Parts: sequence; C-alpha cells; structure tokens
Amino acid sequence: MPRSVVVVGSANADLVLEVGRRPAAGETVLGSDVVTTPGGKGANQAAAAGRAGADATLVGCVGTDASGDLLVGSLEGAGVRTDALRRVDAPTGTAVIVVTPDGENAIIVAPGANRQVTPALVADLADVWRGATVVVLQLEIPLETVAHVASAASAAGARVVVNLAPAADVAPEVLAAADPLVVNESEAAFLLGTTPGALATDLDAAIADLLARGPRSVVVTLGAAGAWVAERDGRPQHVPALACTAVDTTGAGDGFVGAMAARLAAGDSLADAARVGARFAGLAVQRKGAQASYPTPEELHAPRR
Ligand code: ADP
Repeated sequence: MPRSVVVVGSANADLVLEVGRRPAAGETVLGSDVVTTPGGKGANQAAAAGRAGADATLVGCVGTDASGDLLVGSLEGAGVRTDALRRVDAPTGTAVIVVTPDGENAIIVAPGANRQVTPALVADLADVWRGATVVVLQLEIPLETVAHVASAASAAGARVVVNLAPAADVAPEVLAAADPLVVNESEAAFLLGTTPGALATDLDAAIADLLARGPRSVVVTLGAAGAWVAERDGRPQHVPALACTAVDTTGAGDGFVGAMAARLAAGDSLADAARVGARFAGLAVQRKGAQASYPTPEELHAPRR
C-alpha cells in the first residue's frame, strides 16, 4: 500500500521566550520563562496532514535528546508515522523565538540534526517516499536533498508539493516538480525579485510570473486575506481565510500546507484542498504554538458556525 502523504523535512524544538524589548548588542534583559513546544516546518506539516486525516509520514532526523522525544511524542499524537524519523548523534534542531510586544518576533534557527537529512539518507529511505501519493517538501533541510527528492518523487508519479520556506534559491527542477508551489507574500516576492508591496498591486501578474517559473500550479497565501490558487490552464481562484481573531500565527502556513496535502492525497481539487487548508490554519491561529495549536479531526470537521 503506498503511503498517502510523506513529508521530507525538518523537525525543531521551538524555544519561545517573551521579553519587553530585544536586547541591544552587549546588553542583558530579563525575559519570561522559556516554553518549549514542538515545531519545525516539516514536522508541523506532517502533524497537520495527520490531523487532517491522511496516513502521514515524516522523513527526517532528530537527536536522542529530550527535544527529540518531544517531537516524536507530538507527531505520534497527531497520528504521524515516525518509522522514517531517524534518531541521530546531533542535537535536535532548535528555533529560539524571541517574542516582543511589537509583534516582530526575532528567530534564530540552529539546524542541528536537520543537517543530516542528506541525499544519502533519503536515498536509503526511498521505499518510504518514492511511491507516496503526495510528497511534501520545504527548505529547512539541505537544498540538494530537496532537489533529489523533488526529481525522483515526481518521476515516480508522486504529486510533489513544494513550500518555498524559508525563501531560498532552488534548482529549476524543484520548481518544475511543484504541483503546487506554495509561497507566502514575502517568499513570492523573493522568487520574483520584487517587493511584497509591488506584488500586491498586481497579484494576477505575479501569479502568472510564478507559473512561468515552471510549477504546474501555485498557491499564494496572504495571511488574514486568505490565499490565491492557480493552475496553468485556469483562472486564479480566491480562497478566503477563516474570519477569526488570531492570537498566534506560528505554524499557520505549515498547517495550511499539511492539511491541503492531506486533501490532495484524498483526491480533492486544488481549490477544495486549499479551502480545507485555510480552515485548518484559521483554527490554528486562535491558539498558541505551532503543532500544539492544530485542531483535532473533530474540530476540523465540526459544523461551521
Ligand atoms: P505564513 O505563516 O507562511 O507566513 P500566511 O501568513 O500567509 O503564511 O498564513 C497562511 C494561511 O493561514 C493563510 O492563507 C490563512 O488561511 C491562515 N491565516 C493566517 N493568518 C490568519 C489570520 N489572522 N486569520 C485567519 N487565518 C489566517
């Protein structure tokens, strides 16, 4: 039986601390207690796919430390298979997230074990991902691994979802394999060499430019303004965001991608899958944390108010 959604990507412990203001160079400030929660784009997307009902698997690496245990526990709680999540001799990836009242969070990511998600490691695990219905990739692991999996999975007939986050230059074959390429406003601007402001003034042209880079379809997410979905031969369609009050948008984009991947694997159209992604992300922004904020299957499928 092929697996339905296989995410190849990162897993991080998010160390969140609140401070009144960011320290200047050479300065010490007191902060809140540190809260450690499961994160990392790959693990978040796999957890979201699992919560949205897919037979989801994460291919990746964590350490043998307590953060690795935290991630395995969170993923298993979301119904994600962890048989291809290697425990390696390196610290689990860690994101230090400094939250300030101005809302401009400052983040440092220490990749740690994620550096070991190499082409050789994924080649070893090819039986897990090559025959999957949907393979999901993002850019917090070595980019040569992303290129290898994108090409090989696409050639084997898998649908490849590429989330260009965090923004980076990728090989043309990664963009060519993407169906869809998922970008937020700043990632779209990065890829097109423009500014988010310029992009917003003519979104239709930006979507056409993104499609011209090679992907078979594109999803541009716009926070509270929802998302636009476009396929090569169709007109762009708007997917509204859930009307709600956001308390923490950490992991919203990842929740969108994972839930959308689950619905694509189940056979939904891209627009229908993106609608489920938007509902999933809209429920997630109403709670703190990344994976910790994700809705249960019951919450996701509850009748709409
Ligand atoms: P990222 O988290 O990658 O920057 P976005 O900010 O575009 O991505 O958010 C991804 C998706 O999450 C949006 O398309 C939307 O569906 C949902 N979302 C984000 N912020 C909000 C919000 N304030 N209210 C409702 N939904 C939101």
